[in-house]
Amino acid sequence: MSVEDTLGRPLRDFRISVTDRCNFRCTYCMPKEVFNRDYEFLPRADLLTFEELTRVAKAAVALGAEKFRLTGGEPLMRRHLDRLVGQLADIEGVADIAMTTNAALLSKHAAVLKEAGLSRVTVSLDAIDNEVFQSMNDVGVDVQTVLDGIDAAANVGLGPIKINMVVKKDINDQEIPKLAEHFRGTGHIVRFIEYMDVGATNGWRMNDVLAAGEILARIEEHHEIEPVDPGYRGEVASRYRYKDGSGEIGIIASVTKPFCGDCTRLRLGADGRLFTCLFGSEGTDIRGPIRDGATDDDLVEIMRGVWEARTDRYSEKRTESNLPFPRVEMSYIGG
Ligand code: SAM
Ligand code: SF4
Ligand code: SF4
Repeated sequence: MSVEDTLGRPLRDFRISVTDRCNFRCTYCMPKEVFNRDYEFLPRADLLTFEELTRVAKAAVALGAEKFRLTGGEPLMRRHLDRLVGQLADIEGVADIAMTTNAALLSKHAAVLKEAGLSRVTVSLDAIDNEVFQSMNDVGVDVQTVLDGIDAAANVGLGPIKINMVVKKDINDQEIPKLAEHFRGTGHIVRFIEYMDVGATNGWRMNDVLAAGEILARIEEHHEIEPVDPGYRGEVASRYRYKDGSGEIGIIASVTKPFCGDCTRLRLGADGRLFTCLFGSEGTDIRGPIRDGATDDDLVEIMRGVWEARTDRYSEKRTESNLPFPRVEMSYIGG
């Protein structure tokens, strides 16, 4: 069964945020001034259980989803995540289960997650210089810990690994060629991400965005690269390869070159709200119906309704007024 939204976009990817907590305080995502001791994270009882998450995931598959991505907050902060991976891997029709992580705890968990059925990981790493990295994660975790996590994941077969770097102008843009160089020839793919205006707490300004064209230019100062065709419909990164055959990079230009026309992603917040756009504000509660006794068919129908009503194309309309605000936080919905 498949389903299309009002713009003819099918549902293909299902992103599951398993927690709104994180062991980092990346300044562009969970600034310490806001996410401090007084911040109220979701109470445990509000989180969907693994059984509940799996039921929602099954309903997404019934509507056409083929790929899952676990995210957060930091997904590795959720205890026994491997059990959820195992349950998701048992759903018939799922081709791929990925996870986006800051990798601080990845060395410890990579093997058991692979064993449970995880297909691959995407690791966020915003700098290769330790000082710059620590000033961005704001909790003192060092680059080597993340690199060890990447190696551990690659060693158990969770690669090739995508490395996500969010670029903030004048903060870590000098790291672009360094990060590219570090991973060139390793088989891992660095993807440079334009800093986005998600959430309501990071104080985003267009002036902080280094546009995709400028990111490319920084790499071209060092290497010759050429474009690669997209691998599939809805691929968010524009792909490039080094002409000398030493690998590939990607650029995710959601600010300057939006890709809403191909957006096939449905997102589930940790407390069971469905979002059809990263820039949503309310979401649709599915936990209530589940806990009130909805059947699996009921869940499919609720989700079908949500998708069929979908009109989102926030990034294409960014400059218009009347856009939803406050928007859901990235640390809640997970990217
Ligand atoms: N904690 C995990 C991590 O960092 O990989 C998963 C959740 S995190 C919210 C998912 C991704 O969103 C990360 O790659 C992060 O760098 C990215 N992200 C967070 N805030 C962003 C922003 N304002 N603009 C662009 N990307 C952002
Ligand atoms: Fe945590 Fe990921 Fe947000 Fe950084 S980007 S604060 S690691 S959720
Ligand atoms: Fe998809 Fe919304 Fe991002 Fe557009 S702005 S690509 S609709 S998540």
